Amino acid sequence: MTADERGVTPQSEDFSAWYNELVIKAELADRGPARGTMVIRPYGYRLWELLKSDLDRRIKETGHENAYFPLLIPQSYLQREAGHVEGFAPELAVVTHAGGKPLEEPLIVRPTSETVIGEYMAKWISSHRDLPMLLNQWANVVRWELRPRMFLRTTEFLWQEGHTAHADEADAMRETVLALGTIYARTARELAAMPVVEGEKTPGERFAGAVRTLTIEAMMRDGRALQAGTSHYMGTNFARAFGIQYTGGDGERSYAHTTSWGMSTRIIGGVIMTHGDDKGLVLPPRIAPYQVVIVPVGRDGGGSEVVTAAVALAGRLADAGIRAHVDDRPQLSPGFKFNDWELRGVPARLELGPRDLAAGSAVLARRLGGAKEAIRLDGAPARLADELDAFQDFLLARATAFRDSHTVTTSEWDDFTKAVAVGWARALHCGTQDCEQEIKAATGATARCIPLEADQESGRCIRCGRPAAYGKRVIFGRAY
Ligand SMILES: [Zn+2]
Repeated sequence: MTADERGVTPQSEDFSAWYNELVIKAELADRGPARGTMVIRPYGYRLWELLKSDLDRRIKETGHENAYFPLLIPQSYLQREAGHVEGFAPELAVVTHAGGKPLEEPLIVRPTSETVIGEYMAKWISSHRDLPMLLNQWANVVRWELRPRMFLRTTEFLWQEGHTAHADEADAMRETVLALGTIYARTARELAAMPVVEGEKTPGERFAGAVRTLTIEAMMRDGRALQAGTSHYMGTNFARAFGIQYTGGDGERSYAHTTSWGMSTRIIGGVIMTHGDDKGLVLPPRIAPYQVVIVPVGRDGGGSEVVTAAVALAGRLADAGIRAHVDDRPQLSPGFKFNDWELRGVPARLELGPRDLAAGSAVLARRLGGAKEAIRLDGAPARLADELDAFQDFLLARATAFRDSHTVTTSEWDDFTKAVAVGWARALHCGTQDCEQEIKAATGATARCIPLEADQESGRCIRCGRPAAYGKRVIFGRAY
């Protein structure tokens, strides 16, 4: 196979083809045998594990405990909350037969776990002293997808779902905001280098059964938005449906206020589309499975002495907490390997040949190009740690600048339509779902969120001219 065959359609030519080819060629994932399913390959799974371990740490540090609930949920559970069942009905996979016989009651393969967790919260909570109850589970869920896209929309995906119960609205809303900001937005920014906007969904975009839905929205390099994590305040909807009640200090029985929040493998699609370029993936160092690849160069791959030195160097980098990999595949040329690791998004590459070794140095090449540079082998761990930190910061700054330069604040419909064709528009809106639908029909754009941090503004709706709702501008954009 030549380097050209390994390459992908340039992003600038066909973003969608670029994405689909890259997921496969970078060995992140493969298509699964059943419609819309996906096999996550080790390289993609390592990326997920690195994100997951950071999320899990934050979830635990904020007082939540992990638990696990069953994959199969009795159909009657879903029917107890009307908005919830209506929202999920078209996406459900239902088990009707098992053990060779029809089941008395069909079982749903969980699309999310509010119902089954609600049933057990009702059992476990009796007093105000049992609150708040702060649970999380790491799980797979199934939502039947008619238009699957790897990582972005797959029939089965991996995620965590937080589920909490509180004594009152104020405490539950504090939790909803905490999950969004302290957990999701920080993981997205600090690990994935995605400059997400924290906001609230408009009523038409809320989760099925929620009173309020908060979201983090990220801009991809084609200008589209990606919802990267959501956090929902359920009010007492699920508590009433499942009987989650507690006795207060005064002896009164009250319904608990619940929340749920989730972040999934979808964020990997976000990482690909936030940072990738014509050559392939560009991975933020903090989630790159390999942060540095060492490629022995020279005749016969530099010979055994060079390979031995490369392995020793990788060991010293590992001691310094850097994930390093030696590419000593003998049958492949250095040029092929350079292209391969660029396609797979490795932040830094070290080329090591006999002459470099004799001089006590290696050649550093960066994923985003620029001049190659000789670095001292003895100082390599400290030097690369600095390089990786700088690269992480650079990616966040570059994505932030891209987002800001593709976001237009406007009160003119013509400017609005131009803005959402290539990015986002910040505009006042009347708050009606009919008007949101008209905007979608005319431009393909939807209300992404009402940013939590935005100046108070009043005026008229960008589309219909009625008085604006929310007291703030809404971000509109086309979305994944
Ligand atoms: Zn309107």
